[in-house]
Amino acid sequence: MKSYRVTLIPGDGVGPELAEATRACLEATGVKFDWDIQTAGMDVMASEGTPLPERVLESIRKNKIAIKAPLTTPVGTGFRSVNVALRKELDLYACLRPCKSYDGVRSRYKNIDLVLVRENTEDLYAGIEFQKGTPEALELIAQIEKLSKRKIRSDSGVSIKPLSVMGSERIVRFAFDYARQYKRKKVTAVHKANIMKFSDGLFLEVAREVAKKYPEIEFEDRIVDNMCMQLVQKPELYDVLVLPNLYGDILSDLCAGLVGGLGVAPGANIGTNGALFEATHGSAPKYKGLNKVNPVAMILSGVLMLRHIGETQAADRLEKAVADVIREGKDVTYDLKADRNDPAAVGTKEMGEAIIRKMKV
Ligand code: NAD
Repeated sequence: MKSYRVTLIPGDGVGPELAEATRACLEATGVKFDWDIQTAGMDVMASEGTPLPERVLESIRKNKIAIKAPLTTPVGTGFRSVNVALRKELDLYACLRPCKSYDGVRSRYKNIDLVLVRENTEDLYAGIEFQKGTPEALELIAQIEKLSKRKIRSDSGVSIKPLSVMGSERIVRFAFDYARQYKRKKVTAVHKANIMKFSDGLFLEVAREVAKKYPEIEFEDRIVDNMCMQLVQKPELYDVLVLPNLYGDILSDLCAGLVGGLGVAPGANIGTNGALFEATHGSAPKYKGLNKVNPVAMILSGVLMLRHIGETQAADRLEKAVADVIREGKDVTYDLKADRNDPAAVGTKEMGEAIIRKMKV
C-alpha cells in the first residue's frame, strides 16, 4: 500500500496537542503516512538561531505536502511570523478556506457552504511599507507628488498595494479549477475596482478574462463592502469567492464567524511546488498543555489534505466522523458546549478519540 511522506510541524502553544489528535485521526482512516516531523518557532529559535531553519523548508520542498499546527509570533521581538514566512518562501500563493456549517455548532446561520480563495503573496500584505518621517518615506512622497500631481501630507506613513496580472491570473485560475474539480457552480470575484482602478481594477479585468475559459461555471463580481453585507444577509447565494490578500483576510474571519468560529475553521496554503494545511486559528497560548481546545479545525485541515492527495474516501469518512461527533454534542470540547463551563466537556485528545471511534462504526 502506498505511504505518503508528509512534513508534520507540531507547532507550539496548543499546537502539539492538536497535531497529535490530528495525526491519530489521519492514521485511523487507514491511509498510510510516513511523517517527517519538523519543529519550528520560538523553541527552535533558542537552539538553532532561527525560527524557520532551512531543513523545514527543504522537507516541504521535497515532500510537497505538509500539515502544521499553529505557531506563536511573539509581539515586539523583531521575530517575523513563521506562518507568513513559510507561505512566502514556498510561494504558497493560494489560501483555501472552506466555511461549512456542521449541525451542533452554535451559529446564527445554517446550511452555509462557502469556499474562500485568498491570494497570499501580493496586495497591502506584501509588507512594502515606509515609516513616517524616514528619508525613504519622504523621498517616495516627493516622487509620488511629482508623478501624480497630488499632495501627500509629509507626516504620512505609506504602505504599497501591488496587484499583478500574473498574481491575479493564477489565483483566479486556482478558484475556477477548484470549482471545476469540486463541482461548484459559481465563482464571485471580490474587489473595490470602483475606487482602486489600477490595482483592484486590474484584478477584476483579469478575473473576467480567466472566467471566459470556464464557461460551465457562473462568474460574477461584487464590491467588497457590498459583499460583506450580502454575506451577512444572504450567504446562501454564494459559492466560491476569490479575493486579493487583504479582503481575503478580513472576509475569511467573517465567513468563519458565519459557521461558528475559529474552532471549526480549516485552511490550506497551496502553491505550484507544495501545499501546507493548517487551521485558521492561532496557538491559543493561554490553553497550552491543558488538553482543552477544539481539535476540529486542524483535523478538518487534515481532511483537506486527504482530498488534495486524492484520498477522497478517507476524507469523506473522516469528515463524516467529525460531523457525527459534533452533531451528537457529547464528546466535544468546551467551546462546542452550550455552556462553556460545562463540566461534561471533553479534552482535545478525547474528542480526537471519539472521532476515531466513529470512523470504526
Ligand atoms: P488564537 O487563534 O490563538 O486564539 C484566540 C482565541 O480563540 C483563544 O484564546 C481561544 O479562546 C480561541 N481559540 C483559538 N483556537 C481555538 C480552538 N482550537 N479551540 C477553541 N478555542 C480556540 O489567536 P491569538 O490569541 O490572536 O494568537 C495567538 C498566537 O497565535 C499569536 O502568536 C499569533 O501570532 C499566532 N497565530 C498563528 C497562526 C498560525 O499558526 N497560522 C494563525 C493565527 C495566529
